[in-house]
Amino acid sequence: MTTKAYAAIAADSPLAPFSLTRRSLAADDVHIDILYCGVCHSDLHTARNEWRNTLYPCVPGHEIVGRVRAVGAAVQDFKVGDLVGVGCMVDSCGHCPACAEGEEQYCAETFTGTYNGPSRPDGGNTFGGYSQDIVVKAGFVLHVRHPEAQLAAVAPLLCAGITTYSPLRHWQVGPGSKVGIVGLGGLGHMGVKIARAMGATVTLFTTSPGKAADGLRLGAHAVCLSTDREQMKAHVGSLDFILNTVAAPHKLDAYLRLLKRDGTMTLVGLPAEPHPTWSIGTLITGRRQLAGSLIGGIRETQEMLDFCAQHGIVSDIETIRMDEINTAYERMLKSDVKYRFVIDMATL
Ligand code: NAP
Ligand code: ZN
Repeated sequence: MTTKAYAAIAADSPLAPFSLTRRSLAADDVHIDILYCGVCHSDLHTARNEWRNTLYPCVPGHEIVGRVRAVGAAVQDFKVGDLVGVGCMVDSCGHCPACAEGEEQYCAETFTGTYNGPSRPDGGNTFGGYSQDIVVKAGFVLHVRHPEAQLAAVAPLLCAGITTYSPLRHWQVGPGSKVGIVGLGGLGHMGVKIARAMGATVTLFTTSPGKAADGLRLGAHAVCLSTDREQMKAHVGSLDFILNTVAAPHKLDAYLRLLKRDGTMTLVGLPAEPHPTWSIGTLITGRRQLAGSLIGGIRETQEMLDFCAQHGIVSDIETIRMDEINTAYERMLKSDVKYRFVIDMATL
């Protein structure tokens, strides 16, 4: 059976209708009808080959929610009709130290991306959520426990949610922590909501003056316009942890200075080009740390989904039709997203 999808066939071609065939159901597979798929900045980086590793044709989409259509004979955790999610990974080696610890995103043999492969065992391409349905190993499928009415707004949790939740947990953010979130886009707005729910005092750093009111509404205690030197000065040496979600190269020093002694800034944004080199002096003089973090493991993704369900957290979304995806990409490049596009797959 063919599956309708949208694909880029080259770095400079817009996304357009495409059809593909999903693999037949293995004993440990779940077949999912996709209802909504979030639009991550990584989709754009990949569709346009900005990370120089794209396999074409490219069907992006790794913020998938849908309903189980069928399960393989050995699947016990899911049944037909369940609401489920699929994030950035659909497989991994399963036996390296990272996989053994449930940190499949750091799989020593590389996890299989929901799109752009490498598929197992052949190392080929995989096709993501800008499509009608998908077949995924049960071990990489998540339970969605939010009310069904919130389903579209749950989709972005599968990448933007876990990518911010995981570092906030890893660096032990909680009551008493002073946290900075840099960039109010898809990841950043989830970072603000989740850090607030964890009990932290949250300051949002944005380059967009028009996002200040939203920053406060979404849960930040304070908003700082990062292009204003005076405003930035007021925060020097004040933060325990900074989560930097910016998708473009920028000066990291301006933010490293805001950390207290022993503070950490973790980068999750992955721009196509490197950041200008930061000053080692800023690190040395405050024993500060600069770190990175990649999505989150499957166990932690389920933990994040349940945490968000418990705290009533979903993404602030703008629902689009599948054929609006190219315009959505252009708006994302202008930081004009409030705060995540989600494709209604019924429009495909
Ligand atoms: P997004 O919605 O486009 O948000 C990025 C935000 O960065 C913008 O809204 C803007 O916020 C700020 N920004 C953009 N250009 C800027 C510039 N030139 N200078 C300063 N700030 C700028 O993107 P996203 O989907 O949240 O993704 C963000 C990045 O994370 C992407 O690079 C993506 O590939 C990466 N990512 C990484 C992981 C991971 O596992 N590490 C997972 C998913 C995504 P303001 O308007 O508030 O300034
Ligand atoms: Zn993503």
